[in-house]
Amino acid sequence: MDNELKPVKEGVFEVGPPPRLRGAICSVCKQKFFPKPVVACPQCLGELQDIYLSTEGKVYTYAILRVKPPYGLPSPYAVGMVDLEADGIKVFTLFDPETLSELDFGKRVTLRVGEMGVGNDRKRCLRYYFTPQVGGGKSEIVSLDYL
Ligand SMILES: [Zn+2]
Repeated sequence: MDNELKPVKEGVFEVGPPPRLRGAICSVCKQKFFPKPVVACPQCLGELQDIYLSTEGKVYTYAILRVKPPYGLPSPYAVGMVDLEADGIKVFTLFDPETLSELDFGKRVTLRVGEMGVGNDRKRCLRYYFTPQVGGGKSEIVSLDYL
């Protein structure tokens, strides 16, 4: 379908359901990465294996931006880092523009994929973002799957 929205960049996340981030794990040193490095493990040059990362984590840091947004993003919008505790890495992300007032350090968040802004081709597209969990309480960490 021509009308179907596409991810802002192929290979970075799965639209789902369920939505998932595509990362990589080094087969030698076991370090995980997101997004997947282009060639090899940046730490030891080991071979990389594709993995899906966990879909839940906690807000490590964030900033709400009230300047004119790029790529047709909503205004204001928020960016930051989410700590995917189960994977031992932090990932750069947008946050749900509908729930900016609920953002807080340490808040538990869940991965979502939805329409947000436009891509390099100026067409509306899908982006991944994290949204605060209701109440923000502790919840089970989703374990990762290997591709
Ligand atoms: Zn490595």
